[in-house]
Amino acid sequence: MTQSLDLVLRGVSAGYADGAALEDVDLTVRGGTLIGVIGPNGAGKSTLLKAILGLTPWATGSITLGGRPMEDRRDRVAYVPQREAVDWTFPITAAETVMMGRYRRIGWIRRPGSADRRSAREALARVRLEEIADEQIGELSGGQQQRVFLARALVQEASVLLLDEPMTGVDQATEQLVTGLLRELRNAGTTILQSTHDLESAAEISDELCFVNGRVVAFGPASETFTPPILHATFGGELLIVGAGDHAHTHAGGHHGTAAPPPS
Ligand code: ADP
Ligand code: MG
Repeated sequence: MTQSLDLVLRGVSAGYADGAALEDVDLTVRGGTLIGVIGPNGAGKSTLLKAILGLTPWATGSITLGGRPMEDRRDRVAYVPQREAVDWTFPITAAETVMMGRYRRIGWIRRPGSADRRSAREALARVRLEEIADEQIGELSGGQQQRVFLARALVQEASVLLLDEPMTGVDQATEQLVTGLLRELRNAGTTILQSTHDLESAAEISDELCFVNGRVVAFGPASETFTPPILHATFGGELLIVGAGDHAHTHAGGHHGTAAPPPS
């Protein structure tokens, strides 16, 4: 059981050299909830996760975890980056990648001990990758690569898990496995933010949805936020709404094949 910690953002703006990508974010994420971060390409979803991690070039405002400044709590946060941001040619095996998640505990001087190795093995088993533990990450499928990074996050035993578009470019079996694991982790007390452009499955799996477009457009359970006005405010003309009434079927347009921002 993980200690459930509230994640609170107050007046947070963050961005890059050329300006703010995200402005004036006020957000209270209750400990042990699963949040779907939703918005079009370039909306600031990745920036939001990176701001929480302290990875944006600049950020203002305050971010606390369990009432303490985030800077002091970074060891409680695990991160699964967007697949495009990872150098998959790096010569490292699946098992070694997972072990990297333990280094904050191990320290860089000590060698991994048997507890670390057991934890890495268990995490690989949890994502059903025991068999390919010794393969190079570059040789794995997209779904397997995503599961390796999830396993790396699992061994950190973090209170907060941030995942950037974990379902993009993965097979259906992986999607189901990841969905199941996220539910399990949330039920065990982990606070989870998952960015995605898959509105339907985000609405299904998440306790609350966070609609983002340069700012937080809306935050709340799908029953309150998954509405045509909020979808329109978030996606504008990019969103095609098929059907009518409160049972809108949605399709985020302009996502596939759109140039991604440079990884940072
Ligand atoms: P999303 O993840 O929702 O697609 P991002 O957070 O990646 O959006 O991007 C938000 C805005 O910040 C975009 O306008 C994007 O071009 C810009 N941006 C993202 N990464 C960088 C970067 N490394 N340098 C400069 N601008 C960036
Ligand atoms: Mg992104």
